[in-house]
Amino acid sequence: MKIDVIGTGYVGLVSGVCLAAKGHRVTCYDVRPTVAERLNRGELHFHEPGLAEMLAEVRQAGRFSAAEMSETALAASAPDLILIAVGTPSTDGKIDLTQIRGASQAIGRALARIPAFVPVAIKSTVVPGTTDTVVRAEIEEASGLSHAAGQFGLGMNPEFLREGRAVEDFMVPDRVVIGSEDTRTRDALREAYAPWDCDIIEVNTRTAEMIKYANNCLLALQISAVNELANVAAALGGVDVADVMRGVHADRRWSPVQPGGTRVRPGILDYLKAGCGFGGSCFPKDVQAMRTLARQVGIEPRLLQATLDVNQDQPGQVTQLLERSFPAGLAGKRVLLLGCAFKEDTDDVRESVSLRIVSDLAKRGARVEAHDPVALDNFLRAAQAGSVEPCADWRAAITGADAIVVATAWPEYRSLREEAGRMSGKVLVDARRLYEAEAFPGADYQTIGYAPARVLTAAGAQA
Ligand code: NAD
Repeated sequence: MKIDVIGTGYVGLVSGVCLAAKGHRVTCYDVRPTVAERLNRGELHFHEPGLAEMLAEVRQAGRFSAAEMSETALAASAPDLILIAVGTPSTDGKIDLTQIRGASQAIGRALARIPAFVPVAIKSTVVPGTTDTVVRAEIEEASGLSHAAGQFGLGMNPEFLREGRAVEDFMVPDRVVIGSEDTRTRDALREAYAPWDCDIIEVNTRTAEMIKYANNCLLALQISAVNELANVAAALGGVDVADVMRGVHADRRWSPVQPGGTRVRPGILDYLKAGCGFGGSCFPKDVQAMRTLARQVGIEPRLLQATLDVNQDQPGQVTQLLERSFPAGLAGKRVLLLGCAFKEDTDDVRESVSLRIVSDLAKRGARVEAHDPVALDNFLRAAQAGSVEPCADWRAAITGADAIVVATAWPEYRSLREEAGRMSGKVLVDARRLYEAEAFPGADYQTIGYAPARVLTAAGAQA
């Protein structure tokens, strides 16, 4: 198939390259002209493991190209399928459809010049009802065509990839969701995914849109639920939430026991772990968007609100732990922040918890130096000017630091244990639960979800 993908961000480019790897001919478009130029030289504009190698292969095979977004180029390409993978950020807690509208209008103008039926499917995360209303209306207005008259197709094919594992997730998906408003678009999406052997879930576009939000909202809810329990454990004292969750994970409903006694360790357990909160370009905005939609349709979203409230406060645990160790205050204290990306294996800092940590520490007069294997430049651009200094060599920086905060679970930070001898007298805040206190005997080890036992009276325990 000839597939055109609109938007070359984490989702658009990974989708385009992987579809090309499976044999389709793909063109990826972006409004940023330099992005297309770079891709056509084989250069990536963001970090994603395995993507550069696959891009080289599909370019070599002549099945992938990139172009600056233009309706003329789109019309000339005469695609069998168009996928829209532009950004859907959050503005004031509501989904911002500016990019979706812009892409839909451009596609509409291109469709007016293509004499054939073209199916258009949304890959971006959009609130239920968007494809069927906003996208349909924009394309119809710009093209003069009618979906009801069968002059173009409408579909919704949500994406579930995780940054850092995007190629693997796309190539070996849990499932593919095909939402459609007409059978020809359904068939086009079936054909696009024919090279994949996985569960295919066929629904209407609203349901496809809702599946994506339900998925993210439930994952975010698990994180906030465990973080709330972690805060209770720390406030109680003498209970480590990591031990608590070890006991919980062993429940066969979380980790099934197979015949023979071996346990399946489902990926959901990674979300049932205490930390300093979730960030990234999806969970915060998607939970907010679903909360807004719920209110619009007359449902008070109590669990979604609680998920966001807990997450809003959770990065504050890091500052509280530091303040516990420096009761005279953080002014002038030198803090080495390890990890800027919202999670490991990506350079994405959108809504990264580290941004909030830096802002909190700067307000208290701490001097923050930050390190990240790949996200530092993005972080320095996103952080408030003057609030943070870059650190190129985190091992060397330990010497001058009063405190070290580990905020992203990058594999290389696990080797902090090897520096234990140089951590004596320093505070270590393990905000991602990567270590054990015993690994740092001379340091003041602090973590989320644990505090030493305090004396509790029986009455206090019962109160
Ligand atoms: P992104 O911001 O990284 O990329 C969006 C790209 O679209 C940008 O390069 C932008 O220049 C381009 N663009 C905007 N308007 C355009 C237009 N009219 N024509 C052509 N290009 C245009 O976004 P992303 O992280 O790739 O996410 C895209 C969508 O996928 C979002 O809805 C997001 O919620 C969803 N999603 C993201 C992830 C993830 O892990 N990043 C996972 C699943 C779903």
